[in-house]
Amino acid sequence: MLNKTISAIKPSATLAISAKAKQMKRQGKDVVIFAAGEPDFDTPDNIKDAAVRAIEEGKTKYTPASGLPELKQAVCDKFKRDNDVDYIQENVIISNGGKHVLSNIARALLDPGDEVIVPQPIWLTYPVQVQIAGGRPIYLQLPDGFKLTADAVAEKVTEKTKYLILNTPCNPTGAVIDPSEIRKIAELALEKDFMIVADEVYEHFLYDGKKHLSAASISEEVREKILTVNAVSKSYSMTGWRIGYVAGPADIIKAMSNLQSQETSNPCSIAQHAAVEALTGPQDSIRKMVDAFRERRKIAIDGLNSISGIRCYNSEGAFYAWFNIQDVSKAKGSMDFAEKLLDQAGVAVIPGAPFGGEGWIRLSYASAKEDIEKGLERIRDWTES
Ligand code: GLU
Repeated sequence: MLNKTISAIKPSATLAISAKAKQMKRQGKDVVIFAAGEPDFDTPDNIKDAAVRAIEEGKTKYTPASGLPELKQAVCDKFKRDNDVDYIQENVIISNGGKHVLSNIARALLDPGDEVIVPQPIWLTYPVQVQIAGGRPIYLQLPDGFKLTADAVAEKVTEKTKYLILNTPCNPTGAVIDPSEIRKIAELALEKDFMIVADEVYEHFLYDGKKHLSAASISEEVREKILTVNAVSKSYSMTGWRIGYVAGPADIIKAMSNLQSQETSNPCSIAQHAAVEALTGPQDSIRKMVDAFRERRKIAIDGLNSISGIRCYNSEGAFYAWFNIQDVSKAKGSMDFAEKLLDQAGVAVIPGAPFGGEGWIRLSYASAKEDIEKGLERIRDWTES
């Protein structure tokens, strides 16, 4: 009865494991959750107040399907302020979170058989969305440094390449792609005529003096090859509000807007008004959150590296510790490790396998410091026992 493509889809492992861990907690089990990538901070008050005001002022009706003009303008101003890129409202669409934006892109760009270069390890949803849209993910397995290079991309480009996923800082590894490589990849996109989907949702979460380069800021010519994806979810701790956005060539944005107008209409009007405040109001909550994550990152990476059999990657961005468990004798592979750790030690992490990183585990350290310390002790006790 079911459509063949849809019936082959498995639920998102990040969301499924988070849901299972939360359910265990509700049943009274003592579980430490490092699963979905979700800052533990509350949404800042000025943003919540803007949502309350929107309700009180009756801003509760349809907005244009592609998003409120004032939110599109706030997005343009944000790109100028943070990323040094010039966009106008015709270059922008607002959708139901970054995930929806990415799905719209796949649907708007791909014809059956079109190829999308997907470097791995990477967030597990990208290739599934490509498949749903009829495209073919072409995997590019990165060696252990996890840094994408233009030479590696060049080897995968064919006449059917429609776009490349460029996610820096990267989920799940936290790797930050060198700006010099981003420039070379952009040159390659111009030369070989493919688009780059630059997912910059972790742009502010950078450590060890790393700086973010938006590919679209390289030149006006390059900007025409880039779809710059972002969301308020991580930067403003607004995961549940579901507001994501993308800027790119007006014709592609128009096609995505047409699709969205037939499929979902506008994202929630109240959340859009809150997002205007997030992007235009005080920005100091981002710095506070990144400062807290810097400290937690050190605790997580140092703690994991001190456990026998575990080797943690030195992630320079995002809020994930990415660690190798191939020398841990208690588990056979990442799925087995994550399942046993949850059932036997009460710690929820995400296995690397669905990200294309077998032998590795993702631990989100966007959790309270005490929870990180408690979770690390449990991982140590379980692994070394
Ligand atoms: N992007 C986040 C993560 O990787 C949210 C969960 C999801 O949608 O996959 O955990």
